[in-house]
Amino acid sequence: MARRGEPRLTDSSIESFANRAATRAKLRYLNGMNISQLRIAVIGGGIGGLAVARACALRGARVCVHEQATDISEVGAGLQVSPNGFAVLRGLGLGDTLRQTGMRAQRVALHDYRRGPVVQLDLTRLVNQDYWFVHRADLIDILHRGACAAGVEIRLNARVNDPSHLDADVIIGADGLHSVMRKGLNGTLAPFFTRQVAWRAVVPHDGSRSGEARVHMAPYRHLVSYPLRGGNALNLIAVEERAEWSEESWSAPGDPNELRTRFADFGADAQSILAKVERVGKWGLFRHPVAPVWGQGNHALLGDAAHPTLPFMAQGASLALEDAWVLAQSLSDAPSVETALSQYQAVRVPRATKIVNAASGNAWKYHLSSRPLRFAAHSALRLAGAVAPRRMMGQFAWIYDHDVTGGQTLATSAIS
Ligand SMILES: Cc1cc2nc3c(=O)[nH]c(=O)nc-3n(C[C@H](O)[C@H](O)[C@H](O)COP(=O)(O)OP(=O)(O)OC[C@H]3O[C@@H](n4cnc5c(N)ncnc54)[C@H](O)[C@@H]3O)c2cc1C
Repeated sequence: MARRGEPRLTDSSIESFANRAATRAKLRYLNGMNISQLRIAVIGGGIGGLAVARACALRGARVCVHEQATDISEVGAGLQVSPNGFAVLRGLGLGDTLRQTGMRAQRVALHDYRRGPVVQLDLTRLVNQDYWFVHRADLIDILHRGACAAGVEIRLNARVNDPSHLDADVIIGADGLHSVMRKGLNGTLAPFFTRQVAWRAVVPHDGSRSGEARVHMAPYRHLVSYPLRGGNALNLIAVEERAEWSEESWSAPGDPNELRTRFADFGADAQSILAKVERVGKWGLFRHPVAPVWGQGNHALLGDAAHPTLPFMAQGASLALEDAWVLAQSLSDAPSVETALSQYQAVRVPRATKIVNAASGNAWKYHLSSRPLRFAAHSALRLAGAVAPRRMMGQFAWIYDHDVTGGQTLATSAIS
């Protein structure tokens, strides 16, 4: 959706945008290419943008990131880096730094909102146990330092409204949810409101919760909490089904008292967290189609710009990291930018689509409103947790065991 005050792209400007990009790419790459000769402009210094900048710079490219914010600062709340996302950080030489900053995830405990524990998913049964809870600001800080250490130029307060004005051999749109590049390549892809709202907050905690994500499941609502920063904070996401429209924004504020009222029937454990909320963000959950075009001419999309996802598989950050690696590798291996971008798109679209669809299909599982159905579902979960715990975790192997790096490492040294 267009932001207030942002110029709208017309059909003719989309066409000229794509044509200019294609012509430029053809002219430059008639005779093959080498990534170390490429000048790469990245729009957006978020998770995917900083990761692809470091990945391309480590492979020899000259990279400049254009970020609209005035500084790379304390924004956002917690997010999850699962083993598939961690594999990319490790390949970029940033894995050890993340291990020092994040909280290792050990289990997911599912609770009925009133009756308490239902079942635990033991994350220590995963083949790869690098599953991390981290504050978004900490991950951004690691990636930012990583990009600078690799020689990336970062321009702040540098919003890009028309990517084709950037003078570079490759222009990567890592500009998130409201991407201008996505509109340029795909026109407007209308999202729809899912009639769900997510409240997001970080509250202080006493350090007693080690590595456990707790999900309280209730009719039409659920509440997820997990520890951050050595357990001195808890990240809270409270999802509610409601018809009333809410803005799709990472920064729209909510009212802590309204949050408490909406979840007032939850048990003591949830109340002890809700009581500490002083500031809360309110985020309308929208379902977006995965962009059909990720690469055209010398323009490429990655992360939320290509495939915004609902939070129910916690894969937003990990998918952006995977995209970043594959795009840098394609630019490094392919004979031309156009071939690289079409290879990148062919590899990434099916996986991103599968994960986005899995996330879209997941919310109802927590929100069963009929009491008998809830009882049956919780009993089945308890049984599966008792007799087949390995199988319960195995259902996620296709997500977590996917290593786009193939074990490759571009840098080993930690950043200072
Ligand atoms: C402020 C903010 C807070 C967030 N908080 C959370 C959170 O608490 N938990 C969570 O799970 N996810 C959060 N996210 C989203 C999460 O980072 C992404 O879903 C995911 O990591 C994918 O990363 P990305 O790089 O595609 O997008 P993002 O990480 O969203 O990065 C996009 C970047 O592009 C910049 N940008 C956008 N348009 C332009 C433009 N035209 N010109 C220049 N720069 C531009 C943005 O300022 C941003 O830095 C947040 C995102 C933002 C922007």
